[in-house]
Amino acid sequence: MKGEGKMADKRDYYEVLGVSKTATDDELKKAYRQLAKKYHPDTNPGDKTAEAKFKEASEAYAVLSDADKRRQYDQFGHSAFEGGAGGAGGFDFSGMDMGDIFGDIFGDLFGGRSRRQSNGPMQGANLRTSVRITFEEAVFGTEKELDLNLKDECPSCHGSGAKPGTSADTCAKCGGKGQVAYTQQTLFGMVRNVQTCPDCKGTGKIIKEKCPDCYGNGYITSRKKIKVSIPAGIDSGQSVRIRSKGEPGSNGGPRGDLLVEVEVSRHPIFQRQDYDIYSTAPISYATAALGGDVKISTVDGEVLYNVKPGTQTDTKVRLREKGVPTLRNKAVRGDHYVTLVVSVPTSLNAEQKELLMRFDDAMTGKKVTATENENEKEKGKKKFWK
Ligand SMILES: [Zn+2]
Ligand SMILES: [Zn+2]
Repeated sequence: MKGEGKMADKRDYYEVLGVSKTATDDELKKAYRQLAKKYHPDTNPGDKTAEAKFKEASEAYAVLSDADKRRQYDQFGHSAFEGGAGGAGGFDFSGMDMGDIFGDIFGDLFGGRSRRQSNGPMQGANLRTSVRITFEEAVFGTEKELDLNLKDECPSCHGSGAKPGTSADTCAKCGGKGQVAYTQQTLFGMVRNVQTCPDCKGTGKIIKEKCPDCYGNGYITSRKKIKVSIPAGIDSGQSVRIRSKGEPGSNGGPRGDLLVEVEVSRHPIFQRQDYDIYSTAPISYATAALGGDVKISTVDGEVLYNVKPGTQTDTKVRLREKGVPTLRNKAVRGDHYVTLVVSVPTSLNAEQKELLMRFDDAMTGKKVTATENENEKEKGKKKFWK
């Protein structure tokens, strides 16, 4: 019989997807996703074999992902879907909503947006703003007050956008659903597709008489003061999220969030890298040579640091836990690295010069006369103040 021959040629749906007869919905979806990605006509333009494979896998998935159809198929095999409309075309896609079956798979496979009920409650958009704080405020945390234009539901129309006393009409085009379905000729035959209603932009409503207070927008904008608590350890470019201070939601949905990006001003002496602080501190030649305590500025104020005798210029020292507190735990701090720079005096009086020359002589073990001295001094400087 002609029909039987056709059926024998048709591969088993489980075999097509490469799954067992007991495969779960997740396993089916995973298997189909892989095949669809491989054989999708968009990725194989003009390839008839890929197209056929894609259709075959799509058909298998359309049946097996539907509990009722899968039961019928398990019981009757392909003949479950034979007959009906002539029997020659095999499985009939025309009565199915392809968006529902394949929407989530193609949505993330090919970058499309996932479908959502656009006239249902929707969360408002997130708002972004920024705030500038000082280096110290970033280190220890601070509280700032922001002055922002925020939208609120219009009190006159309660967000409907319709003039008080009137109400919005149900959109005639979509019947209030916010979406319109249309059929399209595709690889599978006629396929039903769903898109946002162009007349009502997905709201499901048409406003005839607009609310005069909000011009039909459903919200009003006003200037609001909002406190933001900035945690210790925050760095430039990081944001603080304030829940529910973004745009109002629609159709009873919650507000979006407010994201406050922090910009930290430069500090005149401190630099920051992650949670560590870097700075330089001058020390005198005598302190470098003899050792002694020096005052070093840190974010906690000045600390005394004992310089070892014979410290060279550009020596780096670490002040443990004098860095920035970590965001996760304020008690855990980075370190402060200080580069000790030996400072060379730029103007000396006669007595200081004399003392230095005598020091130089003592170091070189050489007696110099006053006239020779001027020439020798340059050399000496080079030697000692490298
Ligand atoms: Zn209004
Ligand atoms: Zn509509």
